[in-house]
Amino acid sequence: MNDVHTCSRTQTYPNHRNANKKIIAHIIKDKLEDGSRDLKPKDIQKDILSQYNTSISYKQAWRGKDFGLQTLRGSPLESFEMLPYYCYNLEKKNPGTVTRIKTNDAGVFEILFIALGASLRMFRNHLRPLLIVDAAHLKGGYKGTNFQAVGMDGNNQIVPIAYGICRGETGDLWSWWMSVLKECVGDNPNMIIISDRHPSIALSIRNEFPSAFHAICCRHLMMNLKLKNKKVKGLYWGICKAYTPDEWQRKINILCVESVNACTVRWRKLPVTLLTDTYREMVQKWYFERRKAAAKMKYEITDWAAHKVQKRIRKSVSWVVYGIDEFQYQVFDGLYNRLVNLRTDECDCRKWQLSGIPCGHVIAVSRFFGQTDCLKYVQDWFKKEKYQATYVESIQFVGNYKEWEYPNHIHPVTLPIMNNP
Ligand SMILES: [Zn+2]
Ligand SMILES: [Zn+2]
Repeated sequence: MNDVHTCSRTQTYPNHRNANKKIIAHIIKDKLEDGSRDLKPKDIQKDILSQYNTSISYKQAWRGKDFGLQTLRGSPLESFEMLPYYCYNLEKKNPGTVTRIKTNDAGVFEILFIALGASLRMFRNHLRPLLIVDAAHLKGGYKGTNFQAVGMDGNNQIVPIAYGICRGETGDLWSWWMSVLKECVGDNPNMIIISDRHPSIALSIRNEFPSAFHAICCRHLMMNLKLKNKKVKGLYWGICKAYTPDEWQRKINILCVESVNACTVRWRKLPVTLLTDTYREMVQKWYFERRKAAAKMKYEITDWAAHKVQKRIRKSVSWVVYGIDEFQYQVFDGLYNRLVNLRTDECDCRKWQLSGIPCGHVIAVSRFFGQTDCLKYVQDWFKKEKYQATYVESIQFVGNYKEWEYPNHIHPVTLPIMNNP
């Protein structure tokens, strides 16, 4: 990255006539580097007016930003060459981190895999065995694909687990990425993997995670089929519901990984090393914020779970319970009779076993017992202790590249020409 400021001292106080793009870029440099918000030309105009009492045109502001971004990005070749050293130092600063770079025979970059050590330990120890895998095309001159695997925490928020960049989007590269992911998380028979309908993603999941249950994102299925007819739409939605085993899975299908991608849209334009570090920085920030929130938890379960339980408590107030034996209870909810089995922890409405949160029928049984609290019917994933443990580790930053270690056995990679498939 070019850190040399070329503007002279006398030029740093621009006015409407001589505020050239270099000066504006210089002034907004810190804000551009910060990257936590998208700096708009209008904001630049306002900042310069308030700080320097100088008004500049929208076009001047835009040019200044454009120039600043170019300087910030540096040469893509240099950035790609830095990647192996970045990965090496990332692993040193964050123990347990897995980074892999695959090059072709000519040493040209093909694909990157990164999973932070803290994320992997969190996934193995504190998260439901659920992964959502999604891909998005890289913008800018790179024309590659950015993909990621995320999990869900006890507060129903997505948590980044693994990240990657590749040229194009071919099945072979996907399979390679999935195989590294499997090395990191294992092929757990209870694992559920949700993905886009992209055939090469689906195929690589089936190949690399043969024991896992693989569901396809319903929303994408519907979008891809472009179903206009409401009846047909309902039918497909019904099939999707039957196909997905869990209640929360449906919610996820709506949320999808798109919310992560929404954050990444802006930095998708940046070069790969900076992009990768921006990902790391985002995870660092999320951990920090959620750790703070977890420390202040009001209830014994997460806010999301508490909200669910409260809704079900209100809904089930008038439901009638008839005992069958020590473990089995019949619950009439005004529409159906449901069977709650406390030996197997199941209700035949399926909500309890699938969501991990007691359904109204179980809550009614709890009330029938004279219990004032139904906490014991909530799965551990949603409990305070578990949630606080999820974010107990912190992500470390990699530091200034000038202070990195550059061991001899690490070799730079060559910039590929990336293309969209
Ligand atoms: Zn989707
Ligand atoms: Zn039920």
